[in-house]
Amino acid sequence: MTAEFEVGGIGITELAERYGTPAFVYDGNELGSRLDGLRARLHPELEVFFSLKSNPNVSICALLHAHGARAEVSSTAELLTARRAGVAPENIIFLGPGKSRAELAACLDEGIYTVVCESFGELSTLDELAAEKGIVVPVSLRVNPSFAVKGSGLTMGGKPRQFGIDEEQLFAAAGLAERHPHVRLMGVQVYMGTRILSEDPIVENTRRIFDLAERLSAHLGFPLEMVDIGGGLGIAYFDGERDLDLEVLAAGLNPVLADFAGRHPATRLVMELGRFLTAVSGTYVVRVRYVKTSLGQNFAVTDGGTNHHMAAVGIGSYVKRDFPMRLLNRYDEPAEQSWHVTGPLCTPNDVLGKKIALPPVRPGDLLGVFRSGAYGPTASPVLFLSHGYPAEVLVHNGQSYLISERDRPADLMRRQHLHHVAGLAAAGLEA
Ligand SMILES: *Cc1c(COP(=O)(O)O)cnc(C)c1O
Repeated sequence: MTAEFEVGGIGITELAERYGTPAFVYDGNELGSRLDGLRARLHPELEVFFSLKSNPNVSICALLHAHGARAEVSSTAELLTARRAGVAPENIIFLGPGKSRAELAACLDEGIYTVVCESFGELSTLDELAAEKGIVVPVSLRVNPSFAVKGSGLTMGGKPRQFGIDEEQLFAAAGLAERHPHVRLMGVQVYMGTRILSEDPIVENTRRIFDLAERLSAHLGFPLEMVDIGGGLGIAYFDGERDLDLEVLAAGLNPVLADFAGRHPATRLVMELGRFLTAVSGTYVVRVRYVKTSLGQNFAVTDGGTNHHMAAVGIGSYVKRDFPMRLLNRYDEPAEQSWHVTGPLCTPNDVLGKKIALPPVRPGDLLGVFRSGAYGPTASPVLFLSHGYPAEVLVHNGQSYLISERDRPADLMRRQHLHHVAGLAAAGLEA
C-alpha cells in the first residue's frame, strides 16, 4: 500500500468511495486557521467580511463565521445563506452593480448593516423603498476612484466601470443627502481588484482609500461609520507566483490602519475577502476514466472538468497555465511522465491541466486540483453537457460531511417542460 493524499486525516480513497467523484473536498480546519492566521496578524480593529461570491456554501460560511468572519453578499440567496449560517444582520453588507428592487427590499427587511450603493439610480430606488416602509436605510457609497495602483491581476481604479460611482461625480453631487431623506449615508467602499499578490499595492491602496473616504465624507457631510477597504488578497496558483507574505503585509498595513483608527475610533474598518479565505482549503477530486495517447501525448480523461472548474483553464490569460495538480491515491510515486488531464466535455477547451508531471496514470486513479476552494462550480458552466453540480464535502475535526449534493439527471430534467408538437406522429417522424 503506497501513501495516499489525506484531507484532515481522512484518506482520499475513502472519501471518493463514500461521496463519489467528481467532488470538491474542503479541509475545514485549514479553512478556519487560515482566517485565524490573518486576523492574528492584522490590526484588531479590522473586521473580515467573507465574500460569499467565492464559495456560497452555507457550511463554509458558517465555519468562517465561527472563526469571526462577517458576510459580504450580492444576491438574495447569498443573503439568506449568510443568515442561515448564523451571521447577524449587523454584520452583513450587500453589494453589486445591478441590485433588483426585490433584493434591496430584502436588505431593508433583514435590517442589514449597510447597502453598498453603486449608482445614483440605485440611491433613488433605495430612498423610495425606504420611504414606502417608513424607515431610513443605512447606505455606503462604492466609489470608482480616479487612482489606480499597479500590481493586481485585475485593477479597478481609474477606468470606466459599471461598479460604483466615479469619484469626480460624487464630489460634484452637492446635496446628495438632502435629496434622499430616507437614506442615511454612513460609509465608503472601494474595491481595487482581485488576485493581488504583492504587499505594497495593498498598503498603498488602503492609504489612498482612507484619504478618499475622509475627503468624501467631509465634502458631502456624512459621518464615516464604516470604511470598507475592499480586499482582493490573492493566492499563488501558477509557476512563478508566490503567496502573500502576511508578516510583510501586516508590517505595512497595520500602521496605516492604526493611524486611521486613531483619528476615527468609532469607524468600523472592513476588509472583504473571498479567494484568500477559501481557495487553499479546497481540492477538486476527479477519477480517471480512460488513459490514451494521441500523437505521442498522454491523456488522462477524467469524470470532471472545466464544467466544475472553469478557472483551471487559466485565469486572465490566453495562455494555459496549470493549477497545482497531483495523483492522489499513489501520492508518493515519482512524477516522471507528462500528461494532459481532460474532462468529459465535448470541447477541446475542457482541459484541467496541460503537460502535468504525473506518475504513470491508470483508469480508476484519483487526481486532485489543489487550491480550488474559490470560484469553483459557482463560477463554472455547470450545466454544459448537463452534468450538473458536483458533490461538495467538508472534513472538519476528523469527520466528513456532505455539504452540497451532486445533481442527478432527474434534477436537471425537472426544470424543463416538454412542449408537445402536434402532428409529428402523423407525419411519420416519431419513432
Ligand atoms: C469579487 C469581489 C470580492 C471578492 O474578491 P476576492 O478576490 O475573491 O477576495 C470582494 N469585493 C468585491 C466588490 C468583489 O467584486
